[in-house]
Amino acid sequence: MRCRVCRDRAAVEVRRHNAAFCREHFVEHVHRQVERTIHEFDMIRPGERLLIGVSGGKDSLALWHILTALGHRADGVYLDLGISDYSDESLELTRSFASERGLSLEVVDIKESYGFTIPEAASRTHRTACSACGLSKRYALNEAAVRGGYDVLVMGHNLDDEAATLMSNVLNWNVGYLGRQRPVLPAKPGFVKKIKPLLRVAERETAAYAVLQGIDYEVAECPLVAGNSLNRLKEWMVELEHRSPGALSQFVGGFVRDGSALFEEESNVDLHACQRCGRPTTGEVCAFCRLQLRATEAR
Ligand code: SF4
Ligand SMILES: [Zn+2]
Ligand SMILES: [Zn+2]
Repeated sequence: MRCRVCRDRAAVEVRRHNAAFCREHFVEHVHRQVERTIHEFDMIRPGERLLIGVSGGKDSLALWHILTALGHRADGVYLDLGISDYSDESLELTRSFASERGLSLEVVDIKESYGFTIPEAASRTHRTACSACGLSKRYALNEAAVRGGYDVLVMGHNLDDEAATLMSNVLNWNVGYLGRQRPVLPAKPGFVKKIKPLLRVAERETAAYAVLQGIDYEVAECPLVAGNSLNRLKEWMVELEHRSPGALSQFVGGFVRDGSALFEEESNVDLHACQRCGRPTTGEVCAFCRLQLRATEAR
């Protein structure tokens, strides 16, 4: 295999682009994909302050690296979910990444800030760990961005993540979620703008990028992943892409271009302030506050 650009020996094959690249040109290719995505969806405007949610995994650290290389200054926020050694190790890797590059990192310990760890929330509320975790991450990341006065919250969701989420929303005909599954969720009262610049980069590409750039990331899987239904869908998506290269970018790209607008109406729900925390919600008390109440109530 030869690099499409310089004809040197290729390091990475990207089958959906029918191409292979050497190290240098693969890095350029990934940067171009992200730059194009940011530009096409007008994700970042001059002067906006960026906060990136980092987990210590390949996607978020690779994206932080890419944004920096593209000239975007982003601060990081790491949520300590209290998942035993996994959280400690991921935090260490994230801290080293940030300090080696002179990047600013805030650490939010959810036990200290909200009174529960993810394993505690899961066992006390009888939710799956991943559903308690997803809800907590969405809430706490937005909270950190609002508190810090940031304009944009950057998320490291890659093409495979978006395809799995889209498939899950279609399988369940979750029309409200389909209307909200967009590369940019504009700011609204109580929420900062949320963007997903890795929309065009597959997971195996962020992994290859991280390795080629010498990024030390958490390779271990979260010990609670077994209950993650989205993860199972992602495995199917990877299989689909393997059999039919390009299928995922067609699925996600087509939805973003032509599909999501069809569901926009469904996602326009009336929001009012949560009686407990004041954040916008459809009910009287928001889902996160309900989780927090149950996860911290005296037993
Ligand atoms: S696998 Fe589940 S519990 Fe673990 S970090 Fe991911 S969403 Fe959270
Ligand atoms: Zn090359
Ligand atoms: Zn609330």
